[in-house]
Amino acid sequence: LAQPMIRRLDEDEIAAALLEPGPDDDKYTRGVVGVAAGSQAYPGAAQLCVGSARLGGVGAVRYAGHAAHEVVRRWPEVLVTETVAEAGRVQAWVVGPGLGSTSDAVKSLRGVLGSDVPAVVDADGLNLLVERRQLLSDRGAATVLTPHDREFERLFGPVGTDRIAAARRAAAESGAVVLLKGYATVVAEPDGHCYLNPTGTAALATAGSGDVLAGLTGSLLAAGIQPGLAAATAAYLHGAAGARAAQDGPVVASDLLPALRAELAALTT
Ligand code: AMP
Ligand code: MG
Repeated sequence: LAQPMIRRLDEDEIAAALLEPGPDDDKYTRGVVGVAAGSQAYPGAAQLCVGSARLGGVGAVRYAGHAAHEVVRRWPEVLVTETVAEAGRVQAWVVGPGLGSTSDAVKSLRGVLGSDVPAVVDADGLNLLVERRQLLSDRGAATVLTPHDREFERLFGPVGTDRIAAARRAAAESGAVVLLKGYATVVAEPDGHCYLNPTGTAALATAGSGDVLAGLTGSLLAAGIQPGLAAATAAYLHGAAGARAAQDGPVVASDLLPALRAELAALTT
């Protein structure tokens, strides 16, 4: 049956999209997600992005970058290397949060986008793409772009008043899934299919919030969920986690990690 072009996922569809481990699974069959984020200047972005990448149903997270010490101190289950090339085989990558714009940042972006696995590009990764669009058109696997309005504008021009049209135009133009963040996040696929996210709260307008969304999106991709659905599911869970965290007081990005676990537990039981 053809899916409607524009739709909102409900709780049951989200629960059905999430993959639970079975008796025959091991950590590799569940999928490994790679995170190329953070830098000496922004180690916290790496911690937040890895923090959520751990929660999307994968068997392991590999981190590649200059915040390896900070990452492993906070998350001892994560395997760390300095470079994307050293990280070995993963089923999906997340690149960009806190990455900076040094030559090593560019190297990470090239390493990720030159690989043949799905990738989420966020934050500094998006900014580096502005002058390197070829990296997108040369891709041999799916890409999910997760811009907020200013990042969107640098890559695709003004968002304007019709956010659905803007996300669709960008997806068609780039060949990537475009997750346009904000109040009522839109996810558009290159063929025009579109998800409107029903969850969220303005309390998510806080530093590091997007880093959590990017890590979760990559994790769902690595676990084997199709790109458009993975992006829409991540937006849903992130918004629901934000609303849940907001019940306990002002929200900071770190609060989203326990709230995400609680949200996943509520959905899958
Ligand atoms: P970033 O700007 O990269 O940290 O991402 C911000 C995150 O918070 C995204 O997931 C946005 O969708 C969400 N967000 C930001 N502002 C709002 C808002 N006013 N209402 C709902 N969600 C928001
Ligand atoms: Mg951001």
